[in-house]
Amino acid sequence: MGNNEEYTAFLQARRCELMRYIAQVAGAAGRNPQDITLCAVSKTLPAEKLPCALRAGYRVFGENRVQVLQEKLDMLRTPACQSICAATSNAAAAGNPAGACAPVSFDMIGTLQKNKLNKLIGAARRIQSLADVDMARALNERCAVHNVRMHVLLELNISGEASKSGFSVPELMEHMSGFTELSHLVIDGLMCMAPAHARDEARACFKELTRVQARLRADYNLSCSVLSCGMSDDFDIAIQEGSTLIRLGRILFDPQYDIQSLTQRS
Ligand SMILES: *Cc1c(COP(=O)(O)O)cnc(C)c1O
Repeated sequence: MGNNEEYTAFLQARRCELMRYIAQVAGAAGRNPQDITLCAVSKTLPAEKLPCALRAGYRVFGENRVQVLQEKLDMLRTPACQSICAATSNAAAAGNPAGACAPVSFDMIGTLQKNKLNKLIGAARRIQSLADVDMARALNERCAVHNVRMHVLLELNISGEASKSGFSVPELMEHMSGFTELSHLVIDGLMCMAPAHARDEARACFKELTRVQARLRADYNLSCSVLSCGMSDDFDIAIQEGSTLIRLGRILFDPQYDIQSLTQRS
């Protein structure tokens, strides 16, 4: 799919199919599909293909490396991308539901590095992957210097897998009151990644995320309204368990991803 028009057509068709499926899964779970935001994980999408993704209608992106996030922002500022965004927002203003009018933004979803926080603060709309106490303090300090408040999600490692970053639930509870005092961070909610290829474990993981949210609401008077969970292989389960932000990569951007198997998921 070297050809941009062809790739845009693929992305558009895939997006339509997925939006329909998301609405169906949400409806069956008694949820409003409008309450579920799709974050397009563009980490494997080369910057020069960003216009294709914008044409297909994506506006909320997730990246896992600061450098690449900046490259995508540079691409976004080019006339080619700006005219796509302007055309779709004009269409939306004129009442064409196909026109997306939301501004384009990039969330950071990957491991943070202290020496890249300054760059990240200027580039990301939100950090979904705040995963340790030390980093939370460092980020708060950096934001204070820049005089900004950064929206963050606290990443939980619910499954306890050593390969995953994030707070354990007891650790989060222990440090939570400290986090609420970090005045340059706005805690929007929680994020987690479920174990791969294990649908029952994924469900248990998402259920736990919802339970933690309920505890934070009760104990800290935080709304913590964003639950970022669900990836290509398990977003249907995440929607059933209350996700408000699904992070999809391969299923959106990879023509080889087998979407037929969606309907066979149980
Ligand atoms: C890559 C990535 C995703 C998307 O995963 P897919 O399986 O490609 O949908 C979601 N979240 C995080 C944190 C990622 O690194």
